[in-house]
Amino acid sequence: MKKCHSAWLLSAALFACSGEQPKEDTPAPTSSASAPATPVRPTAATPDPKRPPNELGRIPILEYHLVGDSAARWMRERGRFRKDLELLYERGYRPISVAELVDKKIDLPAGLSPIVFTFDDASPGQFRYVEKNGQLEIDPGSAVGIWLDFAKQHPDWGNKAVFCMLSGAEAGRSFFGNKDIEGQKTEWRHRKVKFLADQGFELCNHTLWHAQLSKYPDAFVQQQIAQLQMAIDSAVPGYRIRTLALPLGLWPKNRELAHKGSWTDPKSKRTIAYDYNAVLEVAGGPARSPHDPQFNPLALPRVQVYVDELEKTLDYLDKSGSRYVSDGNPNVVARKAPATTASDSSGRRTSQP
Ligand SMILES: [Zn+2]
Repeated sequence: MKKCHSAWLLSAALFACSGEQPKEDTPAPTSSASAPATPVRPTAATPDPKRPPNELGRIPILEYHLVGDSAARWMRERGRFRKDLELLYERGYRPISVAELVDKKIDLPAGLSPIVFTFDDASPGQFRYVEKNGQLEIDPGSAVGIWLDFAKQHPDWGNKAVFCMLSGAEAGRSFFGNKDIEGQKTEWRHRKVKFLADQGFELCNHTLWHAQLSKYPDAFVQQQIAQLQMAIDSAVPGYRIRTLALPLGLWPKNRELAHKGSWTDPKSKRTIAYDYNAVLEVAGGPARSPHDPQFNPLALPRVQVYVDELEKTLDYLDKSGSRYVSDGNPNVVARKAPATTASDSSGRRTSQP
């Protein structure tokens, strides 16, 4: 248990999103992109008697980068990504957005646990279109394609993933691909962003081109954040962004600027202000419950998903008894009973409004 926790801390931010992709320690399963996914029977949520409510428990905020053909430090092989969804479903997790987390809107049946999915950098492997007979279709092998298919088979899964996007980065990391990189046309970009918003996914700011905010003056930091906000507003007019993901996990010198600031466009003289409710780091382990007095939405830790970090995290939460488990009543915060408490149901939990 201790070892697992220190592994989270060692998941240093330094290589995140850097393009460096050291090989994984162990090979990932070699499922093919075109292989049909194993159908998963929709199962009703059955509260596990061994999983008593614990709404002060931890909630993993998962962090994905590339999704593609092979496994690497910053790439999840697409078959393995599908398996991640299946694993989480079977172990009683259901997605919530970052906005729901910070708003304390965790409305799950008793015995289930929230999980947050975040996708950084807006690469084509996350959301790719293919042209078929003049029509655009979502590539079933892209993360969005896999997700939508899974959600169709599991109606209580929903579309609660969070996409932390760039709009002006290189190598196709611009609203999921441009300039024909990986076959993605520049004119498809806004359509993709709009589609995600329409489907209920959360749109999150990851800056204009992934600037290392720690290196730049305050005005530049605010420009990077405000310009991505402008880009999202062009695709989805009026969209209210709630969350920023720090590129490389690096804070600006003036930390407050990560969530609150403004920038005036010198051409139009228009001022774009931002005031977000959540800031995502790149490591640190599962997040505290929003009901925990020490919950800090403006510095939320995440769990990078590579090799078997996901399984290790879930195992740790179960073994340590620190997993958030819903009591099925969104109006009551159910606390876990002390380990020594007798099994009498009336003594198993205390509640507060
Ligand atoms: Zn990034």
